Amino acid sequence: MPPAAADTPPANEEQATGAAPAMLDGVDLHALAARLGTPLHVYSAGAIRARIAALREALAGLDALVCYAAKANSNRAVLGLMAGAGLGADIVSAGELWRALRAGIPARRIVFSGVGKTAAEIDAALDADILRFNLESRDELETLDRRAAARGVLARAAVRINPDVDALTHAKISTGRAENKFGVSLDEARGWFAAAGTYPHVRLDGLHVHIGSQILSVEPFRQALRHVDAFRRELEAGGHPIRSIDVGGGLGVRYRAGDRTVAVADYVAAIREALAGHDGRLLLEPGRWLVAEAGVLLTRVVRVKPGATRPFLVLDAAMNDLARPSLYDAWHDIAPVGAARADAERYDVVGPVCETGDTFARDRLLPRCAPGDLLMIRTTGAYGASMASTYNSRPLAAEVVLDGGRYAVVRRRQSFEEMVAGETAADHWENA
Ligand SMILES: *Cc1c(COP(=O)(O)O)cnc(C)c1O
Repeated sequence: MPPAAADTPPANEEQATGAAPAMLDGVDLHALAARLGTPLHVYSAGAIRARIAALREALAGLDALVCYAAKANSNRAVLGLMAGAGLGADIVSAGELWRALRAGIPARRIVFSGVGKTAAEIDAALDADILRFNLESRDELETLDRRAAARGVLARAAVRINPDVDALTHAKISTGRAENKFGVSLDEARGWFAAAGTYPHVRLDGLHVHIGSQILSVEPFRQALRHVDAFRRELEAGGHPIRSIDVGGGLGVRYRAGDRTVAVADYVAAIREALAGHDGRLLLEPGRWLVAEAGVLLTRVVRVKPGATRPFLVLDAAMNDLARPSLYDAWHDIAPVGAARADAERYDVVGPVCETGDTFARDRLLPRCAPGDLLMIRTTGAYGASMASTYNSRPLAAEVVLDGGRYAVVRRRQSFEEMVAGETAADHWENA
């Protein structure tokens, strides 16, 4: 999806002028915002569990492990929900390893991806005895072999294939083209298997592929998996058994009314078909699809400021709370919570941060708004709070999980003291 298309007026403008429901997972959002303040990240546990159940149902009968991509939303409570449902985790740093283990995800359900794993991170993962390393370079394979040798252990690993497939998504979240930094070519991977004896402390018996995020068609998945399966057959014919295939994540979600997503049943059907000849284990790494639509960001209107072309709707949420619009020109539905005024207005919807990029939407048709109104920015459960920063010295927003009429604050609003924790004045000099 080209970024320029992200903020053109929606096909169905009626939708854009409506109000959002006042209740989510049995909780009154006005009362919640009054009690906990805004901006507030809100997640429905029921919605997340429904996604897990739907994926499980689609996977019935397969030897499959779902490793939730922790970076989508790494709040301890969200990871805890995944742990409780028996899911594993796909991690990309020692910090995520630490979070996943602390949330109760067993090490033997954790896979480790990413191009920049340091020796120290590899050590931490070996010590935890994680399920699998998804390797992305020869240097990483060599490092893993050395670190495993030093510990006298055998590391389980998969090679991440770069299938050179266009995921038809935003350039910044496309990862499966040859020019992207992720994975290795089939030629390179062939070399690893041929030289497997050189790395006696690595059991290289898995294939991994992840071509990008927010994918809205099943075709790129099919193409990538066809490459992977052809390679599996070649390897097995050459005497290299493949015990697991990790199909990555990337399944897209509905950000706006017109978005056509891939049904999870169709996604899994494509996997079943492409990998029908594989009799080992299947790993999946969905992130966004499990949590995005379960989350909303509650925010209040600070003021309506007249502009040269149209008024600015200034919110108390900003790009530091939700970076996707400024980072990817992403569209998020925005709607008043509960009731809306009958007349509509076109706004540039912005946050208070001192950047023109701190814009949630341009020329967006909304019910007329006034200072103090409670709005929701929708579909913020993934890559929302997990990408947040304290830029402009705005403390991290609170996060709350709703579940059948109850709520639990799972991250308290950061205080100024917490925001600067670890900083000191330069008054304790050391000689270098
Ligand atoms: C980010 C990532 C995922 C999850 O992607 P989603 O689009 O959120 O499903 C899965 N696997 C890897 C290796 C990733 O980097």
